[in-house]
Formats: sequence, structure tokens, C-alpha cells
Amino acid sequence: MNNIDDMKGKNYCTSCGMCSAICPKDAIQITLDNNGFYRPVINEELCIHCGICKQICYKYDENYSKEKIKFHPICLSAKNKNKNELHNASSGAVSIELMKICLELGYKVVGVKYDYEKDTAVSKIASTNHELLGFRGSKYFQSYTEDAFKQVMKDNSKQKYAIFGTPCQIYAFSKAAELRRRQDKFLLIDIFCHGCPSINLWSKYIKDIKEKIKLSKFDLIKFRSKTYFWHEFCFDFKSGNKKFTSSKYGDPFYELFFGMDIMNEACYNCIARSSMVKTDIRLGDFWGWQYDLDKEGVSAVVINSEKGKEIFNRVIDKFIIKEFSFKEIIEAQSYGKEHNYDKQRRLVVLEDLNSNLSMRRIQKKYRKMLPISNQLKRMLKNFLKIFLGDFYIKLRQKKHKKI
Ligand SMILES: Cc1cc2nc3c(=O)[nH]c(=O)nc-3n(C[C@H](O)[C@H](O)[C@H](O)COP(=O)(O)OP(=O)(O)OC[C@H]3O[C@@H](n4cnc5c(N)ncnc54)[C@H](O)[C@@H]3O)c2cc1C
Ligand code: SF4
Ligand code: SF4
Repeated sequence: MNNIDDMKGKNYCTSCGMCSAICPKDAIQITLDNNGFYRPVINEELCIHCGICKQICYKYDENYSKEKIKFHPICLSAKNKNKNELHNASSGAVSIELMKICLELGYKVVGVKYDYEKDTAVSKIASTNHELLGFRGSKYFQSYTEDAFKQVMKDNSKQKYAIFGTPCQIYAFSKAAELRRRQDKFLLIDIFCHGCPSINLWSKYIKDIKEKIKLSKFDLIKFRSKTYFWHEFCFDFKSGNKKFTSSKYGDPFYELFFGMDIMNEACYNCIARSSMVKTDIRLGDFWGWQYDLDKEGVSAVVINSEKGKEIFNRVIDKFIIKEFSFKEIIEAQSYGKEHNYDKQRRLVVLEDLNSNLSMRRIQKKYRKMLPISNQLKRMLKNFLKIFLGDFYIKLRQKKHKKI
């Protein structure tokens, strides 16, 4: 057998979808499995065992290892001077400015949109500024990539593409570009990545929210509401004139997302998020004590190539910029780190997400499975947030500045 069903692949599937996009016989289809992860399914009748899918899949890449940097990276914090863009972005609104300049330079842009009919995240191709608007804001689960990636890979013209995605998606594009010897066609921009949870978590969560506020469809969902402020993880849901912001204390989606037990297995020990060799620019939130008191959002920007530098310099005036070291930028990120999880909790929650239990019931059951120390930590954090607020953060900042 010479396709991605070959068990010699050492790692778990990231759900990037590139094997399907590059297959010359359209023999691979990406489907959602029972646990809520996208997986390739091969039609053996169509497969000619050419092995091209294996050549772009990281599972078979013997030379791919963590913590390699190909370029002396330029590390910055960046905050968009335009308050409206800042409000609509997850962090410092760097993505949208890069996307706009890419269109001006003749690229088409691949980014991730929310599909309000199907309540899912989808990678799409944009050719106009208007189409870029839907790409704003992170959607915290893996996007369905198959159609857009296929369209890009089948385009044999000179059209250039700027690809925005997770590090595993960017790895796949980089390999496909190498294979086709068309690196010049692509600008690759990824994100610092915590990982992607089961899509069943989102499906259950959004179903419960709709029941709770008695609406069947939303016009806008912001995964990172800035209604409270940037560091609070909660959602804004909008339908017509109605707006609902989820709780900043113990939102079930974010509690399970940060709990780590129901991530895609590839995310626990991910090589892609801990390597920058394949990406021109990496974007993220600037986590860490430096911006703990910032309420509007600040991005971390790591420029990894001459191409990345050239593009970023064209938009640099749009931002308030400060330079940092690589160590400072990655300090509070999961870059270079492995995530721990509990196999038993994972099995239980994945099963519960497929059941009739409500999100709140699943959350309560989940909390009971956690060690008592985790439960106390969560309660203490909420207590400090409520009663000390900014004062607690200022104390933390003082401690860090002394080091
Ligand atoms: C699953 C996931 C995990 C993340 N984990 C971290 C983390 O651990 N640390 C950190 O600092 N930052 C993380 N981020 C990135 C962060 O949330 C912001 O996307 C990033 O800082 C860019 O913000 P912005 O303000 O410049 O632009 P925004 O306007 O927020 O732009 C969002 C960008 O992300 C893309 N995007 C949206 N949803 C997805 C998706 N599901 N998959 C791929 N691309 C998507 C859009 O196309 C756009 O380019 C994560 C993002 C995602 C989607
Ligand atoms: S990691 Fe990507 S290329 Fe490899 S099998 Fe999974 S979807 Fe296909
Ligand atoms: S942690 Fe790695 S495998 Fe998981 S979504 Fe991020 S880049 Fe992909």
C-alpha cells in the first residue's frame, strides 16, 4: 500500500486536508469522524498508489523536528492603530492588514470563515476586501479545508496565494509547494497554536446556546469578545439587534478547550506549532506579563523569512510596534511544550459529547473527574478575578519586572 493509510506514518493525523487536495485522482475525501475530527478516507478503487499524499504528509517526514528556525527571526508586539479593526480581531489585528496588502500585491487570500448555516469553520479563498471581513477573529477548532485547498492546488496559473492557517496546515502547503517547485506562488502565515478540540464540543455548545437564548441562527459570532476585555475568554453572539455575551467565569467551551482532554491527538505533541521553518510569519496573542493590563489586544509577530519581512514592512505603519527577543515572545506560548491529558477523561467526554447530555451537565461531570487541586485552582482564580481584578495583575507584573 502506498498511500496515507500506510501504517508506517509515525504521527497522528492533524486534519490538515492536504492529502485530499493534492491527490491526482481525487481518491481521498475528508470526512468528520464520530469523535469530531476531520479524517481522510481513501477510495481504494480510485487510488493508483502513487504515494504523492505521503510525500506532503508530516507523518512520513523523517527530517521534521521541533524548534528549528531557518532565519534570524524578528520578534515584535503589534497593536493596530485602527480601533475598529482592533475590536473585531482576536488580538492586535495584524491578520487583516496583512491580508489587505496581499490583495493589493496580487495575491488571493486563503483564510478561515465561520459558516452560519452549518455552524462550522471553513477555509475559503478571498479576492476582494469585502470577502476578507469574514476571516477576522479566531474560530477555535479545525477548519474544513478540502474544497479551498483543492482549488488552490489545481490552479496551474501564475496566480499567487497568501495562506493563513494553523501551523499544520502551513506545513502541508509548504510541502506541496516544494513538491511542485512552486514556492514563489505562496506566502505562508500561521499562528501560535494551542491546538484544536473536537468539533463535537463546538456543535454541542452552539446548540445549547441557541436553546438558551431561543434563537435558531446568528448573524455574527465573535469567539474572542472584547466586551469585558482581551484577556477574558468569552463569546459575543449577535442576531439582528440582539446581542448576548457568554459568561467570563467558566464558559463551558473554553473550560474544555483549556482542559486539553479533547484535543485532536496530533495536538498533544505537535511538531508544527514548535517549529517555524515552514512559515514566513507567525502571529499570536502577545501573552505574558508585558501586556497583562492591556484591554484591547496586542499581537505577537515573528517574521521568519525575507518574504515575510518584505510584506510586513509594507504595513508596519498601521501598528504600534515594540521589539522583543524570541525568548520573550514564546515564554507564555505552548511553543516547544507538550500538552498532558488524561486518557480516561478524554474517552468519557468524547462519548458524552455524542450523547443527549447538555453542555452544562457535561461540564459538571468533567469538573468532578478533575483532581481536587485543579478544581481549587479554578475557584481561586475566579475569586481573585472578582475581588482583586487589576490589582492582582499589577502585583504579578511587579514580580516579573524584578526578575
Ligand atoms: C485553533 C487556534 C488556536 C490558537 N492558539 C493560540 C495560542 O495558543 N497562542 C496564541 O498566541 N495565539 C493562538 N491563536 C491565534 C490567535 O487567536 C489569533 O488568531 C492571532 O493572534 C491573530 O490575531 P489577529 O488579531 O492578528 O487577527 P484576527 O482577526 O483574529 O485573525 C484571525 C486569523 O486566524 C485565521 N483563523 C481563524 N480561525 C482559524 C482556524 N480555525 N484555523 C486556522 N486559522 C484560523 C483567520 O483566517 C485569520 O487569518 C490560535 C488560533 C486558533 C484558530
Ligand atoms: S495529516 Fe494531513 S496530509 Fe496527513 S493524513 Fe492527515 S489530513 Fe492527510
Ligand atoms: S497543535 Fe499542531 S496539529 Fe494541532 S491544530 Fe495546532 S498546528 Fe495543528
